[in-house]
Amino acid sequence: MKTYDLVVIGSGTAAQVASARVRRAGLTVAVVDHRPFGGTCALRGCDPKKMLISGAEAIDAVHRMQGRGVTGEPQISWPELIAFKRAFTDPVPQKQEARYAAQGVDAFHGLARFTGPDAITVAGQEVKARHILVATGARPVPLQIPGADQIITSDRFLELESLPRRIVLIGGGYIAAEFSHIAARAGAKVTVLQRADRMLPRFDPDLVSWLMEKFAELDIDVRTQATVTRIEQTANGYRVHADGVRGKESVAADLVVHAAGREPDLEELDLAAGHLAISKNRLELNEYLQSVSNPLVYAAGDAAGMGPPLTPVSSHDGKVVAANILEGNLHKPDYRGVPSVAFTVPPIASVGLNESQAQAQGLKYKVKSENTPNWFTARRLAERVYGYKTLVEEGTDNILGAHIVGPQADEVINLFALAIRHNLTAKDLRTTMFAYPTGASDIGYMV
Ligand SMILES: Cc1cc2nc3c(=O)[nH]c(=O)nc-3n(C[C@H](O)[C@H](O)[C@H](O)COP(=O)(O)OP(=O)(O)OC[C@H]3O[C@@H](n4cnc5c(N)ncnc54)[C@H](O)[C@@H]3O)c2cc1C
Repeated sequence: MKTYDLVVIGSGTAAQVASARVRRAGLTVAVVDHRPFGGTCALRGCDPKKMLISGAEAIDAVHRMQGRGVTGEPQISWPELIAFKRAFTDPVPQKQEARYAAQGVDAFHGLARFTGPDAITVAGQEVKARHILVATGARPVPLQIPGADQIITSDRFLELESLPRRIVLIGGGYIAAEFSHIAARAGAKVTVLQRADRMLPRFDPDLVSWLMEKFAELDIDVRTQATVTRIEQTANGYRVHADGVRGKESVAADLVVHAAGREPDLEELDLAAGHLAISKNRLELNEYLQSVSNPLVYAAGDAAGMGPPLTPVSSHDGKVVAANILEGNLHKPDYRGVPSVAFTVPPIASVGLNESQAQAQGLKYKVKSENTPNWFTARRLAERVYGYKTLVEEGTDNILGAHIVGPQADEVINLFALAIRHNLTAKDLRTTMFAYPTGASDIGYMV
């Protein structure tokens, strides 16, 4: 039986970063995945989704400019858009395998399961390790409702060969928001059934309310406080039943999509065999991302669930774990200033604290917020959704939080992330010269 210095379960972002660093230091490394190599972001998440959003952006741009010098009715050809996406995703697994081979990292295909505190089994082979990294990502939270087996996941949505006419999305987070913007612009009639009292609960409520104008314009039927209770198969599709504010309601659909949240994917690991303590479906980890019950095991990224479930966090965790394996437990993850974006068209973005978090921390701060469709950035694009909210600490002048909705929000938020992570002040941002006219050139007016 072969013993590695490090066995990584998963081949996504966290796995790639950690395995490359540990291997570069001369240690022996193996990675294991039961799906094609590359992980969620490249194959089933950020990247393929953003390829489809390029289609939605093109449609949106033409619609905004209609009557302003652009004519014609654009259309999405779904099969072509999916082929465009595949041109990016299809080569990923092979490239990843080649990269591992070039690095001298051994690749195992199959489901990994712990057989002891320092051992796993994969495809009938027992593998031992001095360290094991759980980088298994996240999976959709199982929906315990009748007919749940009829609901497709985001993975399947991103593979659809044709786009059904009537689509129901269950959930109201970023996946529901983004997929509804893609599908509606591709011609589908979309309904969103969201249990909470508003869409995008992790984003600022004022900015989300401005963005909802876009959902209305796209004729996306957003029903909040609607808890899905069952999916019924009908002669020509499905009927999705929900308990809503006005009592029981139902929506006819050709496709029902799970967008109701994700949780660490620990299901198949046999955590007990690995002596891995869990609490509320999460591995119990110390501040070094190490299991509190088995010091040979670390976790990173979505599987660890210590930071927000985002690709840059997985990458950061991968670096932290690699450093702790190589140097001993000296490194803790630092999740200050992690920007988060829902890639609706236009996008909504956020970094740092929101008002309730700042209040809960007892901070003294100034809020600046404005709905700004009259600013040049929005006007030149004929975009009616544009606005911001910033929180600046009194006394230090530090940026505590920034929230932007509208054109280029997804790029401009990165400058606020830089400010928060490196303690730049509002004055630093005001006195920086940004290229004009760009989204960033509005920052001086936002703080
Ligand atoms: C639709 C969608 C859109 C997203 N959009 C964005 C975005 O725009 N920006 C952003 O930052 N983040 C986005 N995310 C989140 C982002 O994709 C994840 O945070 C990130 O990919 C997690 O990386 P990871 O390395 O932790 O795990 P993953 O990349 O999920 O890798 C885990 C791997 O482990 C494998 N695995 C699991 N269990 C086992 C086992 N027992 N044995 C063997 N292999 C196993 C899985 O097959 C998987 O390949 C999105 C996610 C989704 C689903």
